[in-house]
Amino acid sequence: MRFPLSLTAGMAGYIAKNKMFPKQAWQENRAAEPDPNNPFQIMQSMSGAKKSTPHPMINKRFPIVLMLEPLHACNLTCTGCGRIREYESSITDQLPLEECLHAIDECGAPIVAIAGGEPFLYKDIVALTNQTLARGKHIYLCTNGMFLRKRAKEFTPSPRFFFNVHLDGMEANHDLAVERPGVFKEAVEGIKAAKALGFKVCTNTTVYQETDMKEIWELFAFLETLGVDGHQIAPAYGYSAVNEREIFLTRDEILVKFAEIDKMAERFPINNSPLYLDFLRGDRELPCTAWGNPTYNTKGWKGPCYLITDAHHKTFEDLMTRTPWESYGAGNDPRCEHCMVHCGYEASAAFGINGRPGDNLKLLKWAMR
Ligand code: SF4
Repeated sequence: MRFPLSLTAGMAGYIAKNKMFPKQAWQENRAAEPDPNNPFQIMQSMSGAKKSTPHPMINKRFPIVLMLEPLHACNLTCTGCGRIREYESSITDQLPLEECLHAIDECGAPIVAIAGGEPFLYKDIVALTNQTLARGKHIYLCTNGMFLRKRAKEFTPSPRFFFNVHLDGMEANHDLAVERPGVFKEAVEGIKAAKALGFKVCTNTTVYQETDMKEIWELFAFLETLGVDGHQIAPAYGYSAVNEREIFLTRDEILVKFAEIDKMAERFPINNSPLYLDFLRGDRELPCTAWGNPTYNTKGWKGPCYLITDAHHKTFEDLMTRTPWESYGAGNDPRCEHCMVHCGYEASAAFGINGRPGDNLKLLKWAMR
């Protein structure tokens, strides 16, 4: 099976329950209060946003994956990373452990992706992982892999816990993307060490302008020999905090890059849902459901999404109710025009938006492989 039964069954039940009985406190639409001190913010009134057709899930909002960033400090300076640029002034801040756990409880998402920054630099990373697992959550600990070989033994293997190692290509190109030689080799040693200790390990790959999809095929074939359990893959998105705009893809370019993604998914254990992959190769329309993947970091709940920041909210309810959700997404906000990232659209597929006959069978086959 692609995922542990607890994840597949738990997610199905969680989504069905929340679709039938959406939490009313999260469905109100209150006036937004953007942060005037945020240099990355574009006020909706300035963005040319127009009134869009009602979003199919606008009154049934609930989160699926919490993106938890307990810090933004990192040992690398990857070319495509917006965090080390957007949060430069607070780069040394770390969330107290209790605040991380409160965020997990407040939003209640069944999956927690612990990201950053580099999570291994977070002072309480082992306690955070253990206490998140104790809450019955599934964890993806997103890392560049540089500390994995030495520190994996501090954690306890669990079917609900995955190390998620960032790899954007084979050695030469990955080291170029992360701007340091030797990172690929160390990440691979880390993967081997984690697998030897009995951990589940998956990888996370971002596709840029320069990415040759044949090299990603080669990468996945190599990772297969290490026993890697699965792969996440998504197109890069040129959001406002990253200056290197020429490395990012337009929507049309994404469709070309991902035209044969179904063949790759047939051959390798790709964790993205097949419905999201249909979207990436232009075979399915999906609206953005950014609330499905909320982000909590050292400034609070980041709205509207993992990528662009118009406000930081003190509470999850505030994020859910004071974000003008229908003003975002392609056609509504120019910043969203070329965005097809999984944190905006994977949840749309999971919510069953624009579903077709046969989708359930397709999802079942994918989950059981
Ligand atoms: S489309 Fe959604 S996920 Fe992408 S940038 Fe816009 S609001 Fe964020």
